[in-house]
Parts: sequence; C-alpha cells; structure tokens
Amino acid sequence: MSEPFPDETNRSTAILSWLREQEETMAELLEKLIAIPTENPPGKNYRACVDFLESTLSQAGLACERLSRGVPTNGSQDSPECLFATYGTGDPALYFHGHYDVVPAQSKEQFQPARKGHFLFGRGSCDMKSGIVSMLYAILALKEIGAQLNGRIVLALVPDEETGGKGGSAWLAQEGLLGRGGIGMLLPEPTSGMVWNANRGAISIRVRVLGKPAHVGLQHQGENAFGRMHHVVEKLQEWKRKVEQRTTQANIGSGQMRNSILMLGGESGGGTNFNVVPHQCWFTIDRRINPEENLDVEKTELLNVLEDCKEEGIPLDWEIFQEGNSSFCSEKDPLAEILSRNIQLVTGEAPRFEMCPGLLEIRFYAAQAIPAYAYGPGLLSVAHGPNEYVDLRKVLDTAAIYALTALDVCKS
Ligand SMILES: [Zn+2]
Repeated sequence: MSEPFPDETNRSTAILSWLREQEETMAELLEKLIAIPTENPPGKNYRACVDFLESTLSQAGLACERLSRGVPTNGSQDSPECLFATYGTGDPALYFHGHYDVVPAQSKEQFQPARKGHFLFGRGSCDMKSGIVSMLYAILALKEIGAQLNGRIVLALVPDEETGGKGGSAWLAQEGLLGRGGIGMLLPEPTSGMVWNANRGAISIRVRVLGKPAHVGLQHQGENAFGRMHHVVEKLQEWKRKVEQRTTQANIGSGQMRNSILMLGGESGGGTNFNVVPHQCWFTIDRRINPEENLDVEKTELLNVLEDCKEEGIPLDWEIFQEGNSSFCSEKDPLAEILSRNIQLVTGEAPRFEMCPGLLEIRFYAAQAIPAYAYGPGLLSVAHGPNEYVDLRKVLDTAAIYALTALDVCKS
C-alpha cells in the first residue's frame, strides 16, 4: 500500500498505471466469469456464479451480503441471488451496479472464452461481465492508492436483468433494499463510449382473442377469432397513430426516432388448420414509452383499448409479460459532470449523453431520485450477438473512470 495521492494528476496517473499492469489478471477473472454460463432465460448457474463472485470479493477484502427472493423465476432451478459488496463505511453510498446474467448463447463455444491480443471473446464479455470486472478493479485501484472515502461504494450484483429484473433489481426495489443511502449510481452496460442518462420504458402484452371452431363448410356455426382480432388490431392502430405523435426531448442515437412506440404483432398466431374457423388468435403488443410518459398512465390507456373491445362483445384476455419504467437523469447533475470529466481525462474525449434504446436498470435508482448513469467498456453492436467481445484496454479505462469518479463523489 502506497501513500494517498492528494494531487489530481498524480492520482489519476497512479490509478491508470496500476490498472495497466492488471490487464492480464483482469482478463483471467473475466474468463472465469464467462465460463459460468448464467444464461437467462431461464436463469442457469446463478448460485455457482454468486459463490464465485462472493469468494472473489471477500478475498479482495470487501464485506459481502447475499440476498435472495427465495423463489426461482423464469423456470430456473436456481433461486435468483443478489450480492452486495461494500468498500468503505457509512453514508453516503455510491452504487456500482451490474448484472451477472447473460442472454442465451448462440453456440456452446461462447462459454469458452478466447483471447486475441487485447480482445476477449465470449458470451457476457461485453454485456456485462467485463463491467463487473471494471467495477471490482476500480475498488482495488482505490485500495491500492490508499484512498480515504467519505462514505462507501456498494457493488450491487444482480441476476434476471435480461428478463426485467424480477428476481434482481425489481425485487430489491420493491423490498426497499436497493439504493439505501445512495447519492449516485453507475452501471457499466455496453454503452459504446456514450453515457446513457435516460431510457424508454416498456409494457409488453400478449393478447388472446377467442372464437368458436367449425368446419369451413359450416362456418356459419363458428365464431371467427381472426375476424375479431382484426377489429381489436384496428382499434389499437388508432391508438398507435395517437401515441406515436408524441416525441421525446432526450438526446437520441443516430438512426433512432424521437417518437413514442407502439408496435403490433411482433409475434402472432392462432387457428388449427386452414379449413377450420379459428377458435383463438393471439398477437403481441410492445409499447415503448418515452421518458416524458408515465408507465401507469400509458398502461391504463392501452388496457382501456382492450377493455373497450371487450365491452363491444369481443371475448379476449391478455397477459403482461414485461413491464418497466422509463427514466431520465440530467446531464447537468454533479455526478454526470464528474463522470463526464473523468471519461475525458482517461479517454481524451468528452462523452455524448443519450437515451438508451432499451430498458435500463438506472430506472430503479432514478425512481428514488438517485442520479444514475450507464457507462461501460463494451459495444452495444456486439452485445447479445454471436461474436460478442470486449477490448480489455477499455475494461481498465472504465475501472479508472469509476475509481476517479468515486474519489470525486466521496471526497473525504
Ligand atoms: Zn446488460
């Protein structure tokens, strides 16, 4: 352990040069994490991953706490477990938040990590086990320079992110266990060099319209679910035209639209045969709300369209299979400015702030008025894909950025 570095330039130099020596050990840790196939759905190997993370973090001298909802989600055998590891004591708390589940692999080889120079390939290398490594090494770098924090860093590692957070962040938030004493949250999702300070919310629904079967020759004896579904879809198209006139003021990425989103028929099906009146037809609705829109209001209004159809005499039911709020945190917030300054210091370039195109777990903190931002080492374009990889130099840059941001936020 060396002396603390009060001078800002020395401090960042010391952190960066120590981290650059760690590229090999960071890569080894990331390889071990990738090799635990925490595929979600359904949520495999959660326990093995948390066991490994807990022993790694305990060995690093962090106080660990495991929390579990106790009920498996998504048909998994393992109960989803959350892990909190703390560095420093007392309030305030700066949260480093990440998820250890990964989307299913395209091939089993993705769980055999492969190194090519500074690049590491494998499922979760980018989204977001490299982010977990960055966060841990940010803390180790602070330990290395003997940093004294006013307050603590809480490393919150959760499962189930890829399926809405049911056994992870959504459960923790519901139980009042997330963001305790929080003054800020950082999330190393693959942001491709951007900071995501906002996200769209989502309400995803499967609608089933019922009818009565009959042979085509006796179709007058049946009730055609397809015809009925057509009417429901028309009503929803009217609603779509209305809501999609609304636009967001948040910064958006190139190729994206400002309009609110109501997509119909991502999945659909029904009937039993071409010559039988369909007794049921179903389709999905994917409503993505802008940060300016309210989840509860939008959900009620969307469901009202379905309720109205029901009142007109159309037998139908529905299931909401995904629900998550939108969020927005200002890029003028002190945490945003500190993060931006440190990104510029380490990478040489000030980041652009943008809205994340999908759901993002900053929403659980933003809902508690805790400023929350995503910035991570990976590229969004390779996340969830067959050639997922991360540049290890970005992993250590992100570790330095997180360490410097923590130092500025938790000034002693
Ligand atoms: Zn992710």
